[in-house]
Amino acid sequence: MIIPLLQGLKLTLKYFFSGKVTMEYPEKKWDVAERWRGRHVLTKHPSGKIRCVACMLCATVCPAECISIEAAAEPDNRKYPEKYTLDLGRCIFCGYCVEVCPKEAIEMTTAYEISEYSREDLILEKEQLLEPPAPRYETKKKAG
Ligand code: SF4
Ligand code: SF4
Repeated sequence: MIIPLLQGLKLTLKYFFSGKVTMEYPEKKWDVAERWRGRHVLTKHPSGKIRCVACMLCATVCPAECISIEAAAEPDNRKYPEKYTLDLGRCIFCGYCVEVCPKEAIEMTTAYEISEYSREDLILEKEQLLEPPAPRYETKKKAG
């Protein structure tokens, strides 16, 4: 009986004198791993044109059915997404949409602060997806 008690006290004393692990969030943020699958972005060519060719592969592969695309065509017949909507409230952050994209047109960033007060605010439109979530978040590959 006394040995488990001493073992418990030893553990208590060990953590009593060790440094604090509480982070002063949100003033300080976690540095997440580079492979973190956070909020998505749509990438552009250096010319500024959206890379996405509205092939629908990401919408087809998405297991949560949270991507919807309305395709349109340029005068030269190049397809592009007139509307691209991604519902983060449904997304399970599996990364399949990124893996399947033949044009590297969609990426996931390290952004993890994506909570909102309403479900509607979690639905991102093309214009929002073309903007990086915040300057400190990096995409894995630079647009280009
Ligand atoms: S990460 Fe997965 S669930 Fe989220 S949009 Fe991409 S394919 Fe769908
Ligand atoms: S993001 Fe990629 S996979 Fe999805 S429609 Fe555009 S080009 Fe196709």
